Amino acid sequence: MIIELKNSVAETRAQEIAREVKAFCIRHNGRFVLITSSSDKEADKRFESEYERITVLADDMQLSSRKYMNETREVKINNVTIGGKTNHTLLIAGPCSVESEEQIEQSAALLKELGISTLRAGAFKPRTSPYTFQGMGIEGLKLLAKMREKHGLNIISEVRDATQVEDVIEYADIIQIGAKSMYDHGILRRCGKTNKPVLLKRGFGTTLQEFVQCAEFILAGGNENVILCERGIRTFETKTRFTLDLCGAAYLKEYTNLPLILDPSHAIGYAYGVPDLARACTAMGCDGLLIEVHPNPAVAKSDASQQLNHDQFRTLSKSLKAVAESIGRKII
Ligand code: PEP
Ligand code: MN
Repeated sequence: MIIELKNSVAETRAQEIAREVKAFCIRHNGRFVLITSSSDKEADKRFESEYERITVLADDMQLSSRKYMNETREVKINNVTIGGKTNHTLLIAGPCSVESEEQIEQSAALLKELGISTLRAGAFKPRTSPYTFQGMGIEGLKLLAKMREKHGLNIISEVRDATQVEDVIEYADIIQIGAKSMYDHGILRRCGKTNKPVLLKRGFGTTLQEFVQCAEFILAGGNENVILCERGIRTFETKTRFTLDLCGAAYLKEYTNLPLILDPSHAIGYAYGVPDLARACTAMGCDGLLIEVHPNPAVAKSDASQQLNHDQFRTLSKSLKAVAESIGRKII
């Protein structure tokens, strides 16, 4: 249940009521909001005179539900905005991992050439094998920060576990929580205490309900800037790496108020399919795309098979603009 308190209720009083009714307490649009379990169907009558609006929900998809807030939330990433009334499709692009200054400099230059604002690259990689490249760590984050200063780009990088969450929060403009880290409550709770935008990737064995409930940890912690990312789920199919769940994407768009980014690169796992999928995702009217692109994919230290080369990406970005325009959206 979500209880919005009257504007006149001050913080100390809101916290007092929250303690009494065992609720999370956040601030939204200048008023305090209490969130309790969705199994609560009636609000505590003792504080009735201080309630402004009560929303009873069927399940724990609460703050993210369009029943609570109908309009897609607006998320600002420095100079760019998605969601709200914007009709923006944010194109996030870059290599899987930061590998060297020379490599990330080439990636940054490509984005500048194409007028793309947001550079992605992992510094802490959640690899399936302990024997493969695990990322450059803090040095990688510093190189990304250098690209931000030098080229005026926004930076997104992933947090692998709670031990680097502070570093990623400090260096990145968007904090990415990867598919394998999606359930890490240390990360989720910490990300609830920052105001930086968080891109939460869906675990590949995660139901939509579980996915959205992980987003609720961040929202209920007080961070309103949560972006969902569908990146493929595991199915019986083995010819492609994962299966991009566009039905799930349609569900999230319909029922949640969180901006939605689609990631065709990790879903299919092979570069050949990324352009077609990226156009299909754009045509769905999602709030953004995440695409892996590398100066020389053949030598990439992670996710080599799925990264586009720069020429393939140049061609793709042109066609994405046309697809977006055809449905009244703009690639940013
Ligand atoms: C990535 O974005 O490079 C990544 C590892 O993604 P995921 O968490 O979706 O596997
Ligand atoms: Mn990757």
